[in-house]
Amino acid sequence: MLIGLPGLGETSVRDLQRMGILLPEDLLEHYPMRYDDFSNRRLVSDVAPGETVTLSGVITSIASRPVPGRRLTIINAIFSDTSGSIRVIWFNQRFLLKTLTPGTHVTLSGQVELQKQGLQLKNPSFEVQRGQETTHTGRIVPIYPLEASLTQKRLRTAIAALLRTERIVDWLPEEIRHREQLIDLPRALQQIHFPETFDAAEEARHRLQFDELFLYELAHLRSREELKKLSAPAIAEAIETIKLFVQSLPFTLTTAQRKAAWQIIEDMSRGEPMNRLLEGDVGSGKTVAAAIAALNAATAGYQTALLAPTEILAEQHATTLQRLLGEEAVILVTRTHGQDRLPEIAKGEAKIIVGTHALLENKVMFHRLGLVIVDEQHRFGVKQRQALKEKQMDDGTVPHLLSMTATPIPRTLALTLYGDLDISVLDEMPKGRKPIKTEIVKKGDSDFTRIKQELDAGRQAFFVCALIDPSEEVEAKSVTELHDELQKGPLKGYRAAVLHGRMKSEEKERIMAEFKQGNLHALISTTVIEVGVDVPNATVMFVEGAERFGLAQLHQLRGRVGRSDLPSLCFLRPSGFVPEQTYERLRALVECNNGFELAERDLALRGPGDIYGTVQSGFPGFKLADLFNAPMIAKARNAAQSLLKEEGGLSRYPAVRARLGEYVKKIHFE
Ligand code: ADP
Ligand code: MG
Repeated sequence: MLIGLPGLGETSVRDLQRMGILLPEDLLEHYPMRYDDFSNRRLVSDVAPGETVTLSGVITSIASRPVPGRRLTIINAIFSDTSGSIRVIWFNQRFLLKTLTPGTHVTLSGQVELQKQGLQLKNPSFEVQRGQETTHTGRIVPIYPLEASLTQKRLRTAIAALLRTERIVDWLPEEIRHREQLIDLPRALQQIHFPETFDAAEEARHRLQFDELFLYELAHLRSREELKKLSAPAIAEAIETIKLFVQSLPFTLTTAQRKAAWQIIEDMSRGEPMNRLLEGDVGSGKTVAAAIAALNAATAGYQTALLAPTEILAEQHATTLQRLLGEEAVILVTRTHGQDRLPEIAKGEAKIIVGTHALLENKVMFHRLGLVIVDEQHRFGVKQRQALKEKQMDDGTVPHLLSMTATPIPRTLALTLYGDLDISVLDEMPKGRKPIKTEIVKKGDSDFTRIKQELDAGRQAFFVCALIDPSEEVEAKSVTELHDELQKGPLKGYRAAVLHGRMKSEEKERIMAEFKQGNLHALISTTVIEVGVDVPNATVMFVEGAERFGLAQLHQLRGRVGRSDLPSLCFLRPSGFVPEQTYERLRALVECNNGFELAERDLALRGPGDIYGTVQSGFPGFKLADLFNAPMIAKARNAAQSLLKEEGGLSRYPAVRARLGEYVKKIHFE
């Protein structure tokens, strides 16, 4: 329990809970995002302007003074050590008058400034001295991500107390620790929070990164073993049917698509469950491969469930598959669709069922479900596997699983990272695709000539903003504001509609359908259209407030255009002041059209001081792990493998088993 820890009142505990920090272990895993170096201890007589220093001594006087006309109080103090005195000022911290009464022994850490009156220390961190140990000054000091009532001091005090009292068990087997030259866990936790040196912090980080990757590999390798014990229907390869289907397509498959499709079909023909990831950049044509897999299953009398992350995308997939495989073969099941057709599904009359992820969780009864396809997702794994197991058929077999993603993880890396998957990569774009021309538009620049040229030529445009409604706090434009701006000015006379996640499903569908049919020139939308949406006639993407989006997200958004052999345009318009670093990020998009390369650039653009891992979102359990550190991933995987291979598996390692149990439980809730 966190309550009762020094530094944490009820409010802080509640705020921590909201951040998912419930237990002491969670708090110990709330790692600093960076450090302040306050280890430079000096005497007052030695300090120079511009230096960050730590001084130990006494407060000799302290007083406050309001600043007339402004809601500001200045605290002025004089601080002395054996070598001399220095002025110290703080702003708006009246409580200091009580805490730092004259005569108090204190340590101050902060930057020295040269003012008219001489040298002074402005807004230093302070710590009333009790013994030799310091937490907030005189050392390398951790800076944590904060929310609400939390402060750096409160968190540091609580974490320092935990580190003193908590019994930390190093669950990683000695052999592994030794082989990988990792420091032990108690030291790693101590040093990640309160490092003695920056090298020590780095060693700690190294150890904790390894732990995350090791647990991840262990969980996935084990689930793979469990999967291997299960069987799946051996689905005959419907070679002739698939050949006919491929011939009927309005385009020729790329070599990569062909190869991937056959790998999938072959997997399905074995009696063990397929667990394959189909990876390909936006627009590489993953859907057709999915259609071939579904057709293959249907020909042998098996059902396929296709899961999409949004209703809009589910809708689109249903339409696409109906076009490709016939109207009657496909049923869309969402909150508003297909509920009346559940009996047909249960009887096995419909072979392809499309919906969102809810499809697996709710009460849809399948009939000979042979294949599950999960689109646009890299969060597959342990949890999904569980859901699939529950779909076991009467004969005890489970469905095959195909996941599809545009997440640009290099193949070699993916192989080690996704310990439990086979991988197919679409590393080739369909013929005739032209690179999307990307430009950064100046703030307020409203030259829409080229956009209008596209619309006049019969093409269509997406406009994307971060917000639905106008906001006072955020400078970004909302969907409604942008719609007004466009309809009054630059796009007067063109047909535009608004689309966002708060609209009713029917309304969203109606508008999406209108846009697809070409009845609308422009769609002004939130990121509900971020992934998957496929309208080949759209050739313009305009992102308002582009600085608010990450590189990967912008690349996904841009992927909504350039989906045919027509040349396409992408405009990125920042909505507020944009610092140079952000511009650099946007420029990466201008210069580069390839998801893999962009991911690498994104990484390079991060400062070396950024502690957190790179692909944070979407990978449960990774706080520090670096997904581009292939050597470490390989080592973690080998270590996990060798442990599982041992006689009796994990039973000889109760501490590992316990830790793994906690880990799996936790990622289930993420
Ligand atoms: P993604 O991989 O992003 O899911 P889609 O499957 O939506 O891509 O395909 C993007 C577009 O390319 C679709 O309009 C699709 O019909 C088209 N397409 C797919 N394969 C080919 C191909 N081999 N040649 C030409 N167009 C293709
Ligand atoms: Mg797609």
